Amino acid sequence: MNDWIDTRQAILAAAQAMLRDGLVVGTSGNVSARCTDDSLAITASGTNYSSMTLDDIVVVDFDGEPIVGSAIPSTEMLMHAAIYRARPGVGAVMHTHSAYASGLAVAGQALPPLIDEVVVHLGGAIEVSEYAFPGTEELGDRVVAALGERNAALVRNHGLVGVGKTPAEAMQACQIAEHSARIYFIAKTIGVPQEIPQDAFATEVELFRMQQAAEGLQ
Ligand SMILES: [Zn+2]
Repeated sequence: MNDWIDTRQAILAAAQAMLRDGLVVGTSGNVSARCTDDSLAITASGTNYSSMTLDDIVVVDFDGEPIVGSAIPSTEMLMHAAIYRARPGVGAVMHTHSAYASGLAVAGQALPPLIDEVVVHLGGAIEVSEYAFPGTEELGDRVVAALGERNAALVRNHGLVGVGKTPAEAMQACQIAEHSARIYFIAKTIGVPQEIPQDAFATEVELFRMQQAAEGLQ
């Protein structure tokens, strides 16, 4: 039987890095990776990242039926499954409650394209989803709508989602979004944030799309 050891190991490493990097506090947030067309490996619900082991990364189908492991999957499993269904090229999803991105999500404000790396790596302005109750299928649908073809989305009154080919890439998407959200707050305290010029934005979106196509990450 395939235990998906390498996939679960990559999730574990990203989950622990997510804690070290301050993207989550306590047991909040979750990380997953696609196993097959209709299954994923995901962090268990309510487990401390610092003491997390491979046993706390379970494999379930997109309806949450267990395949490997007996721990209870993250309460946001349905949101992760909704993203894998909508974006066949996505291989991993990270969800955090990092402070600056969550601040924007609470204010209901999208993260504008203020610095180049947001467009090149994430695909443009990072949109805010409509509100939905945590753990519901509706939340998944709304996050998918906010994500579109991009690699990050803000979850209204809740937090942030980043996607990539691997858990490390999904984490990088979250780091870029959080860092840029922080820059946005700083810029707002000293003046009026200026978006990057329209022609540069258009070029960078094109670069992003080419990169996504090359990696099969649509
Ligand atoms: Zn959450």
